[in-house]
Amino acid sequence: MDRKNKGILVIVSGPSGVGKSTICKEVVKRLENVCLSVSVTTRARTEKEIDGVDYWFVSKEEFDKRLYKGLFLEYAEVFGNFYGTPRDKVDEALSAGKTVILEIDVQGAKKAKRFYPEAKMVFVLPPSKNKLAERINGRGRDNADAASHRLSRADHEIAAAWQYYEHMIINDDLEQAIEDLANVIKVA
Ligand code: 5GP
Repeated sequence: MDRKNKGILVIVSGPSGVGKSTICKEVVKRLENVCLSVSVTTRARTEKEIDGVDYWFVSKEEFDKRLYKGLFLEYAEVFGNFYGTPRDKVDEALSAGKTVILEIDVQGAKKAKRFYPEAKMVFVLPPSKNKLAERINGRGRDNADAASHRLSRADHEIAAAWQYYEHMIINDDLEQAIEDLANVIKVA
C-alpha cells in the first residue's frame, strides 16, 4: 500500500457483546472524514441487520473465492463463522485521506497491524465479567452453550489485549466510551 496516504487506520476489538459496534457507529456519525469498514461474513444475518451496512453476508463458497483471489486484508474464523476485511475499500478510503475503523477480532487485528504498522489499536473492555455476561444474555442471540463460549473467549481476548493494544477503553458509560474513541482518532 502507498504509505504516503493521509488516512489513519484504527483497529477496534473487544469481546463479543461489549458494545463496540455501537461505539464505532456513533463515532462515525459524530466525526467528519471517518468511516467504518464493512466486513464480509459467512455468518447468518440477524433480523436487525442489513446486508451491505452491518456486513456483506455471503456463502462459505463465495467467501473462499474472495479469499483465494487475495481480496481480504485479513480474515479470521470466529465462533465457526468466517469474517474478512475487504482490502480495496480500505485502501481506497485511506488514499482519500479518510480515517478507517476496522471492527475486528484479536487474531485479525494482529494480522492487520502487520500490514499497517502505523494503525492505532483500541480495545474495548466491559466494566466487569458479570456485566458482559448480562449483555450477552440480554441480546438473546445465543443459547447457554454459545453464551458461555463467548465469555470464555472474552477472557482470552482480554488477556491478549494488554500485550497488543495501545488504547484500552472501558464501556461502562456509553457516552464516555464514544468520547474516548473519538479522542484517540482526533489525536492520531
Ligand atoms: P459478530 O458475529 O458478533 O458480529 O462478530 C463476531 C466477531 O467477529 C467480533 O469480535 C467482530 O469484531 C469480529 N469481526 C467482524 N468482522 C471481522 C473481520 O472482518 N475480521 C475479523 N478478523 N473479525 C471480524
